[in-house]
Amino acid sequence: MPDELAIRGGRPVRSSVLPYGRQSLDEEDIAAVAAVLRSDWLTTGPKVGEFEQAFARSVGVEQAVAVSNGTAALHAAMYALGIGPGDEVIVTPMTFAASANCVLYQGGRPVFVDVEPGTLLLDPAQVEAKITPRTKAIVAVDYAGQPCDYDALMSIARQHNLALVDDACHAIGGAYRGRLVGSLADLSTCSFHPVKHLTTGEGGMITTNSAELAQRMRVFRNHGITSDHRQRAQSGGFYYEMVELGYNYRITDIQCALGLSQLRRLPEFVRRRRQIATQYDQALSDVPHVRPLSVRDDVSHAYHLYMVQFDTEALGVDRAAIFAALRAENIGVNVHYVPVHIHPYYRERLGTGPGLCPNAEAAYERLITLPIFPAMTDADVSDVMAAVRKVVVGITR
Ligand SMILES: *Cc1c(COP(=O)(O)O)cnc(C)c1O
Repeated sequence: MPDELAIRGGRPVRSSVLPYGRQSLDEEDIAAVAAVLRSDWLTTGPKVGEFEQAFARSVGVEQAVAVSNGTAALHAAMYALGIGPGDEVIVTPMTFAASANCVLYQGGRPVFVDVEPGTLLLDPAQVEAKITPRTKAIVAVDYAGQPCDYDALMSIARQHNLALVDDACHAIGGAYRGRLVGSLADLSTCSFHPVKHLTTGEGGMITTNSAELAQRMRVFRNHGITSDHRQRAQSGGFYYEMVELGYNYRITDIQCALGLSQLRRLPEFVRRRRQIATQYDQALSDVPHVRPLSVRDDVSHAYHLYMVQFDTEALGVDRAAIFAALRAENIGVNVHYVPVHIHPYYRERLGTGPGLCPNAEAAYERLITLPIFPAMTDADVSDVMAAVRKVVVGITR
């Protein structure tokens, strides 16, 4: 039987696995890295500042601080804002754990606020009820690549004297009401992990219009020392001062050269991601029991991820069964995310758990992430849709 599901012994839609995300590197990227390897500076050299300036310009802010990964970027943001023991920070549960862990690194307490059911973005209407005299900041996440409602969040933040942080790891290249992601909050963070929009292998960036916050983060990423190796080399001296307890969160020139080269290609990467998302939207419109997340009309979505929700009640099977069936068809589906407040660490240390954020929990039971990355071909897109159709029809047989 040609239509027998692969999980039941049928022939899979694809003969090799299509991953959910993957980097796109070209010869120019490779040449940029090779040039740094032949230069004097492998780290704390000129490429770091060049990448920071180019990145700041590309999102339309004054300052960008490059760090070793997206998690370090979030940690630096919490540090720069002075988050400490006793402080509360409002966080969405529908994210990678790092968005909340950064609060714990500084001794603060993440307070989870539920998401809107359609977009799975932090619900501004539920934020105010969780604000206490100890609340210092909000960490919003542009889940999947769709910017949050920043006018609503900023108005709440300003009214209560809170800092607003955009964990923009999914959304570089996106926009909200005509303003670019990276410029929408007091601090915005992003990651250059290979599955993200652009890659440096590992890497991260914080963008802001505050020179003071940027300076604090530059000291923080270098052990809390106020000058770096190259500055001392230029001045000819040895003396340096450690004035804060920082970390080694530096990024190398090798990575920044790759980042600079990749940044050129960002518009093309985002354009292709949007094109694939449109193809998925169209193909899914006549497939029963599967729907994409809602997209507001005042955003330009950057589509780091393309998520669908399966109507598991109508299909009569759980998400795990659909997931396994799609994987058997060699579609590298994934799930983003286990809501952070459900993780054992959070339950044990913070007493969170099921029931705290019902919209996020309900969505999690139905969510599957379909492959999306710039190098996907139209044939790859067709394979994904063929597998989704095959599974929806076949799984209930
Ligand atoms: C990828 C990601 C991070 C962490 O970035 P790393 O570079 O892997 O440390 C944080 N938050 C979100 C939403 C992410 O997607």
